[in-house]
Amino acid sequence: MIGMTQKPKILVIGSANMDMVIQSDHFPVPGETIIGGDFSLIPGGKGANQAVAAARLGGDVCFITRLGEDIFGSQNLLNFQKEGIDTSYIHQIPEVPSGVALITVDKSGENTIIVAPGANAHLTVGDMKASEQRFEETELILLQLEIPLETVVAAAALGNKLGKKVLLNPAPAQKLPDKLYRYLQLITPNETEAEFLTGIAIDGEASAEKAAKFFIERGVQDVIITLGSKGAYLHSSNFKGILPTSKVTAKDTTAAGDTFNGALAVALGKGLPIKDAVNFAMKAATLSVQRMGAQTSIPYIHELSIP
Ligand code: ADP
Repeated sequence: MIGMTQKPKILVIGSANMDMVIQSDHFPVPGETIIGGDFSLIPGGKGANQAVAAARLGGDVCFITRLGEDIFGSQNLLNFQKEGIDTSYIHQIPEVPSGVALITVDKSGENTIIVAPGANAHLTVGDMKASEQRFEETELILLQLEIPLETVVAAAALGNKLGKKVLLNPAPAQKLPDKLYRYLQLITPNETEAEFLTGIAIDGEASAEKAAKFFIERGVQDVIITLGSKGAYLHSSNFKGILPTSKVTAKDTTAAGDTFNGALAVALGKGLPIKDAVNFAMKAATLSVQRMGAQTSIPYIHELSIP
């Protein structure tokens, strides 16, 4: 049994955006201006969402990202501090805009999204080297793919060299160099990302196992393929198979994957066996899909029972 008060040190390295969302009856066609509905400004970005999830779910989280020296950067920084996240390695870069996502949502819930990475593109390999002390202090490093790929590779290599567990949520999917896989303890694609990376369409346990083997052969130790409402496929040394999740009515699955990964990092950081960690992550993600929004939907530890 893991102590409830024990807070594992988690280092999240990734993107932070400000999501600017307009609700509208329909989408404008090129050249058209339409009057939409409500506007909201919501902190987002996969790195930030996963850092917030890990902090709310019991992690002692340090987040490394780059923000612009603008109103969105300052707002994001304040938000991280409010969440109890260590922001000492976050810098606001002068004359570079913060990452933003322009999102329109129509009445059927469909969306269009354009992301301008802004400061996220300025998180460098040198920044990873300069954070080596923080890498040493951490138990687990959580990465995604919304920052430059060379920075992700450098972070994974450094974490691996220091003997830390390195987790990669390979989202959004892009071609990865083979050497990156060797640095990873765990990779957590969803079905689409797993197919993109392996060329194997995921339509059940047998194909999930084949895709998992692709990663294992390249040096990853454990693989989790998230399967939406069907749960997650786990491939580890002592368990291989689909772990189902409870059936719920999903309202909005935005940030389900981010909640899953943040929760997973906390559970693994606490030393839970990987199968229990996946079940904990699915419980957290199940709560998030029943609520609207990204960071607004991420649950707090007191809403979950600790395995
Ligand atoms: P992503 O959000 O990255 O596309 P998934 O859709 O695979 O990833 O979802 C991640 C996790 O969130 C799943 O493994 C599951 O635990 C949970 N989840 C997602 N959609 C649902 C749903 N409709 N009902 C219950 N749980 C869900």
